[in-house]
Amino acid sequence: MASSQILETAVANYERAAKSLGLPDYLSKKMGTPSEKVEISITPKLPDGRVLVLRTFITRHSDILGPAKGGIRMTPCVTQDEITGLAMEMTWKTSLIGIPFGGGKAGIQIDPGALSPDDKEIVIRSFTRGARRYIGPEIYVPAPDMGTNERDMGHIWDCVSYSSGTAITNGCYVTGKPILLGGIVGRREATGKGVVYSILAACQHLGIDPLSMRYAIQGFGNVGAAAAAELARLGARIVAVADLDAYVVNAHGIDVTALMAHVRCAGSLKDYPGACDPASVDFFAIDCDCLIPAAAGSQIHLRNADKIKARIIAEGANAPTTPEGDEILNQRGIFVIPDILCNAGGVFVSYLEYTMETQREQTGLPEVEARLRDRMQIKFREVSTYAQEKATTMRQAAMEIAVSRVAEGITSRGLWP
Ligand code: NAD
Repeated sequence: MASSQILETAVANYERAAKSLGLPDYLSKKMGTPSEKVEISITPKLPDGRVLVLRTFITRHSDILGPAKGGIRMTPCVTQDEITGLAMEMTWKTSLIGIPFGGGKAGIQIDPGALSPDDKEIVIRSFTRGARRYIGPEIYVPAPDMGTNERDMGHIWDCVSYSSGTAITNGCYVTGKPILLGGIVGRREATGKGVVYSILAACQHLGIDPLSMRYAIQGFGNVGAAAAAELARLGARIVAVADLDAYVVNAHGIDVTALMAHVRCAGSLKDYPGACDPASVDFFAIDCDCLIPAAAGSQIHLRNADKIKARIIAEGANAPTTPEGDEILNQRGIFVIPDILCNAGGVFVSYLEYTMETQREQTGLPEVEARLRDRMQIKFREVSTYAQEKATTMRQAAMEIAVSRVAEGITSRGLWP
């Protein structure tokens, strides 16, 4: 799947919402156009003497409601278009979840799996140096995304504080940092837990017992593993888990604690007892009641949407469903919790980290989790009520609420001069 499929999906979802809202042409064009796109070439020198020449990208899609917020994706094939599509999604996500941020995203074109921890630190520091003038508490605040993690965010924080000659940064330059460096408890698990809270809200809405459902999760990284852990803690049955290297399928239920212990040592699902080769199983055809795509974008599409057996799809990943795939899911009556709602828990807790760091405040886990749970429930109800009133899908409802808030922000600010 072309990486620009993510941009195509973001634009298609946006245009449908803008049209349905009947926005004036100038507003519709303004919100459909990114504020700023930059490509920065970096040349990190690795400890073994090799010099890499890497393409990196930043898109600030919108800063109407606040500084651009969004993660840094590190994959070998990330493109500016993919980053722009993801930045656009972040604009709607922050607007929908009700936090004073806009939408942004960054990309570093390299395979993190091919880098040692020391090499990766040098790449991250080189990126921070190159991108320094585009990063700041009032400009763009990065966070982890595919291929980056808490440790990388700690290096960004250190790089900024070191270059300004201070012990800490003046304000929040990056979220998802280690707790010792101003990170917030619960951020690592926030996206996955938020996915689960939105599934619980969906079950309540649909009158389903969440513990009667069988769950399948694609992706066992930050989002997928945290969602699996929370589901397991609640006593739910997870029947399939996938990562890039292997699939684990067990109709009787997977032992998530053992699986996580294996991944901590082995780095992936590969070689877990009973794990199979991805080529031998059609993951999207697995018998389950709730499917959680928590890996790459564009995974549910024209050619596999009709095979999905789940009644509920909870989009942990960003843009996991193409518009053609979405159309099929809608026709089949599958209940989709759209990405901008379902996976917004991470950016919500990032917002708590941002405010905490700005105020030099400390927050405990019970407060973070209670605020996350409340926000996910409130926003689920807002979207499902809108969807019922307008007889539309959850995705269309979420998009219309989000887009209309950004439109209101533009008119409230005023467009001129
Ligand atoms: P990660 O890099 O920690 O993990 C990604 C996982 O997906 C890995 O297990 C990888 O092996 C697996 N994977 C990738 N491609 C796959 C494929 N084709 N088939 C099966 N498995 C595959 O990334 P993450 O942070 O967990 O992010 C996952 C998704 O969630 C991304 O779409 C990301 O944009 C989105 N997201 C992440 C956050 C966050 O807080 N990290 C927040 C919101 C949305």
